[in-house]
Amino acid sequence: MAEAGSFAEKVKQQADIVRVVGEYVRLKKTGKDFSGLCPFHQEKTPSFTVSPIKQIFYCFGCGKGGDVYNFVMDMEKCEFPEAVKVVAEKCGIAIPRQKERSPEERKENQQRSVLVEMHRETQTFFVKQLEGTPEGKAAGAYLEDRGLDKDAIAGFGIGYAPSGGDALLRHLKPKYNDKLLVDSGLVSRDQSAGRLFDRFRRRITFPISNESGKIVAFGARALGDDMPKYMNSPETPIYSKSSVLYHMDRAKEALRRQDFAILVEGTWMQSRWRARASATWWRVAAPALPSHKSNC
Ligand code: ZN
Repeated sequence: MAEAGSFAEKVKQQADIVRVVGEYVRLKKTGKDFSGLCPFHQEKTPSFTVSPIKQIFYCFGCGKGGDVYNFVMDMEKCEFPEAVKVVAEKCGIAIPRQKERSPEERKENQQRSVLVEMHRETQTFFVKQLEGTPEGKAAGAYLEDRGLDKDAIAGFGIGYAPSGGDALLRHLKPKYNDKLLVDSGLVSRDQSAGRLFDRFRRRITFPISNESGKIVAFGARALGDDMPKYMNSPETPIYSKSSVLYHMDRAKEALRRQDFAILVEGTWMQSRWRARASATWWRVAAPALPSHKSNC
């Protein structure tokens, strides 16, 4: 797959498959090869081998095999270009800079990283509200009542958006301008008065992460009878409902091991399921399954 003379070929020549595989699988030297438990199927005795001489891996149990890129693509569930990047990074090989971006592209990238940072801060804020305010504690008690214990709440990063209407806005405002706040989808603008207010109010919040584990949106469930019962972040420069699967970043690992998944509709359902079972799980954060694969 790696063309002669290409960057991918160069990386492959410099990369040591044993080192790369060794980051995922505990390998033992057996003769001139290495062996370990196959990460692609369940087994108790090792049938997975890596050859440093041939720079390939092969499993006698499930028949999976190939070069370092095949391995990373299967492990990370990603495409070839991403696998090249992963291997290069693991081996400390500098990735050639992409051709100079246009000023617009640079601006967009910058905006995306600011929005990701804003979501990270918002997550901290929501969690603090749940843990440290009377209103939040009442929400926490309600969650526990519904079968979610403290570990599950912490594990899911569940938080609370207070009822005030501008608590988050006041928290973020010193650092971010109005346009960014509205672009993030965390803050809305009152169409007639132009006033800004929190999108999520008096709601239990669930962070939604992209595949690399960065929080890019929130799902929120009303605490009382407020409508709608469930509410998500709108589409934003960092969040596209059709390409983000809730908890895929964490389910990837189990999914690969078990080779099956249970798809549950709704953050709430998923959290409750997860609190009860340790099966492979994830949840669709959108009414539709992704129509395209997001970049790993
Ligand atoms: Zn195998």
